[in-house]
Amino acid sequence: MTCKIRLSACGVHLFDRTSGMNVLLDEVPVAAEQFSPAPRYLSVALTNACELHCLYCYAPKHAAALNPQNVLAWAVELDAAGCLGVGFGGGEPTAYRRFSQLCSDITQSTSMAVTFTTHGHRLTPDFTESLRGAVHFVRLSVDGIGPTYERLRGKPFASVVRAASLLASLAPFGINTVVNAGTVDELDDVARFAADVGASELLLLPEQPTASTPGISEVDARRLVEWVSTPRAGVRLAISRTGLEAALPVAEALPGEHPLDAHMHVDATGILRPHAYASAGTPVGASIMDAVQALRGAR
Ligand code: SF4
Repeated sequence: MTCKIRLSACGVHLFDRTSGMNVLLDEVPVAAEQFSPAPRYLSVALTNACELHCLYCYAPKHAAALNPQNVLAWAVELDAAGCLGVGFGGGEPTAYRRFSQLCSDITQSTSMAVTFTTHGHRLTPDFTESLRGAVHFVRLSVDGIGPTYERLRGKPFASVVRAASLLASLAPFGINTVVNAGTVDELDDVARFAADVGASELLLLPEQPTASTPGISEVDARRLVEWVSTPRAGVRLAISRTGLEAALPVAEALPGEHPLDAHMHVDATGILRPHAYASAGTPVGASIMDAVQALRGAR
């Protein structure tokens, strides 16, 4: 096992992408000039393309895609600056040409974890095989079960069940669920589904407002908090940073970590943003670390 080391105000962080092990030596003081300059994690929208039409999708609808050579160069630069992982999304990352090759190139050229979030409907046995050894964790989007899923995602539920079974043979994976009026009543079923298919985590994503939807209502948000607060066995829970987590007993892995040290996002036009919902950012030029510093300077 080869651990990657990241230094920050939180201490010395050891990470192994193969096992997913994280160890924080928070009793070890680190001088500010030794802090790893890269964000701990970068999410990347490789493309805006996606054949689904989820009402609550926040991905821009204009055509855009990143150059794979640029993405690889950014990954190498971030790796040297202490970034621990890159996560691909979109749009739908599996709709990106040369997706498997890009994942493989980054895994070969860096010690970062390579992950992606997918609707799963493009996964075939051959495509899944092409990702073997190239990715370390996958997130599969499953909003509700059976007819609820089919109404929200417009695809057969059986197809996403097949995708879960393919992913189970590929790498550790989690289930992502957008929580809204249509899914909040099915969280027990979704958690059971996640456990049954062998997922290691259920990530709850309270629906965010978009041009087409108002986001999760206060009533449904309260129901989500109640559901999470009820102890249950089974799959580990996680929740996106949308404000709701403040009402929950969430474990802070790196207490006090600044949001821009934790995570940044590159959209499909090459703009570096604090997160995927942020309205402003800075274009990435030849060096992504220059853009990281520019974004930090603007805070
Ligand atoms: S699958 Fe994801 S990217 Fe595609 S439309 Fe739905 S939310 Fe948007």
